[in-house]
Amino acid sequence: MSGHNVAREQGRQAMDPHRYDELKGILEERRREIMSEVQGRMRDVRAEGAGSTVQGVLDAAESSELDIQDEIEFALIQMKAETLNKIDEALRRLEESTYGYCFECGEEINEKRLRALPFAVRCKDCEEAREVKVQRDRLMAQRRGAASLFIDMQG
Ligand SMILES: [Zn+2]
Repeated sequence: MSGHNVAREQGRQAMDPHRYDELKGILEERRREIMSEVQGRMRDVRAEGAGSTVQGVLDAAESSELDIQDEIEFALIQMKAETLNKIDEALRRLEESTYGYCFECGEEINEKRLRALPFAVRCKDCEEAREVKVQRDRLMAQRRGAASLFIDMQG
């Protein structure tokens, strides 16, 4: 897929080159961090596995404990792998000039915010407005729930 054409079709101007570099830097830095963490963890898991074979006899309790730890490790690695996929996705969107814009208002999302939350899809204002709305909806739902409970009790 040729990203630059997509951006033109959407009528969106090419991203400011400085911002592009900045956002790309944020994503690639995050990518490197996670890669080295995953590689470190995989080494640990392998090292532990090898160690237990050398140790030879482990009682059942100990070995099942190890399994759980390995499972947790693998779950963590899997989570990291998913994050890596999200970063790749974000880098693709960056090429298409669709990354870093607010889903609600279309404004550029602040670089500081993206550094803290690389997968933020809303600007701070829209996110806050949304949180208020979510809370209000939840409150309304609770009230409705209470009201219907009251009606049920009467019926
Ligand atoms: Zn917004």
